Amino acid sequence: MDEPKGRASWRRGTRQRESVVDALGSARGFRTAQQLHGQLERSGRKVGLATVYRTLNELAEAGEVDVLRAASGEALFRRCATDDHHHHLVCKECGVSVEVGDRAVEAWVGRTARRHGFTDVTHALELIGLCRDCTG
Ligand SMILES: [Zn+2]
Ligand SMILES: [Zn+2]
Ligand SMILES: [Zn+2]
Repeated sequence: MDEPKGRASWRRGTRQRESVVDALGSARGFRTAQQLHGQLERSGRKVGLATVYRTLNELAEAGEVDVLRAASGEALFRRCATDDHHHHLVCKECGVSVEVGDRAVEAWVGRTARRHGFTDVTHALELIGLCRDCTG
């Protein structure tokens, strides 16, 4: 069986980079670079905030992590459970996220692009709100 794509480049990374990837992998939802940095410090791993930022941006560019823009403009990062195209329901309070998808949405994107003569169309769609725990 094939390994998930992106594995090889993680293996090549430095120890610091691996620490960042680990911290991201153990997070339940989206995290800011600052939050991940704090998480690493608490676990006794010395990784500078600048390294955390750089690593996250590299991983995002390589498509190995998902990035969202919070209402504040801050970037939120998450290592997704799947490489397949999907969307997220994200709690704006605690950052917890659920990976969701809907064939009707994908079909609508294709139809709309075709109707306007567009090709090579990509899209990003995130559903932001309050999770059950943060409601009420
Ligand atoms: Zn995801
Ligand atoms: Zn929440
Ligand atoms: Zn989609």
